[in-house]
Amino acid sequence: MPAPQILTELEPDALAEALAGLGAKAFHARQIYAWLYRRGVADFAGMTDLSKELRARLERTFAIPTPAVTARHRSADGTVKFLLRLGDRREVESVFIPDTPAMTFCVSTQVGCAMRCGFCLTGRMGLLRNLTAGEIAAQVRVMAHDLRLADQRFNIVLMGMGEPLHNYDETMKALRMLAADCGLGVNPRRVTLSTVGVLPALERLATEPLMPNLAVSLHAATEELRDRLVPVSRKYGLADLIAACRRFPVARRERITFEYVLLRDVNDGVADARRLAALLHGIRSKVNLIPLNEAPGIPYRRPPDARVDRFARTLAERRVVVSVRKSRGRDIRAACGQLIVEGARQAPAQRAAALLDWSSRSSA
Ligand code: SF4
Repeated sequence: MPAPQILTELEPDALAEALAGLGAKAFHARQIYAWLYRRGVADFAGMTDLSKELRARLERTFAIPTPAVTARHRSADGTVKFLLRLGDRREVESVFIPDTPAMTFCVSTQVGCAMRCGFCLTGRMGLLRNLTAGEIAAQVRVMAHDLRLADQRFNIVLMGMGEPLHNYDETMKALRMLAADCGLGVNPRRVTLSTVGVLPALERLATEPLMPNLAVSLHAATEELRDRLVPVSRKYGLADLIAACRRFPVARRERITFEYVLLRDVNDGVADARRLAALLHGIRSKVNLIPLNEAPGIPYRRPPDARVDRFARTLAERRVVVSVRKSRGRDIRAACGQLIVEGARQAPAQRAAALLDWSSRSSA
């Protein structure tokens, strides 16, 4: 018997085409998308507005792989972190953040990451594999239904594990699948893609018909420091990245977000803030300051609040739009890669204990 076709990797038009081969109609593709994404039904038996005969044919032809929730951690601040197990038993992290100010799902695009940023646990894993479009979209599908939010408006940020532009085609396909009006219908303006600056892919993104908002993980305002913190910068330098940002077609009333992880005594001085303001001069931008979420294995420290405030003030005095990201879910180690990397170092029993231990930790 031929291997079943993976239905969750098909965009609506491709699904309609595949269904035509079974003698089904194009509207059946829309019905299946609605069951899958709006109602969270991931088996044909539950798709009760399809005829029994069609369901039996679908059953024989397609598979609907859906990541299993292996851990779910709810922080005192309402953040919920999910560990999702994929078909090959690899795990990815996905996070629900309740009020940013809208509800937001943060999803992963790779298992691990090849970019090896110096302050990031996921980077220490290296790249294990790319996620498929179906696996990226499934994170939203699973979280939305687990939390009963599929009929609400929410944002999506591609800021979990991995560098989305290093898995370009599958990431963009996932955004098209999530945007399908027969499914969740997520407007691309509610989606933010965060990148360290893989320049050829960033140039390509600038031409996409369905373009998400852009966030650039900057973290340094000089070539030398960025080369140290974000190794991909040795290949695609800071000056070229900023030039690409200046060219990027930012939608009216939108801004490019520049993310800047504050590391004590590394990039958090007043001189750093002045350089950053000068670097971004003339770009419609906002800066999101992220005081480091410290973790074992990360050789940097979080700056004290007074230094964070001074950095933010220095930017604001230079008319830079700036916000300081609240630490979300520190009690559940919601920083990207924290659960998985810690888990990989522990025996399974220890790991299970650590995963279940969240509720006894104090909130950040
Ligand atoms: S910060 Fe992002 S791009 Fe850098 S290593 Fe971590 S996951 Fe990869």
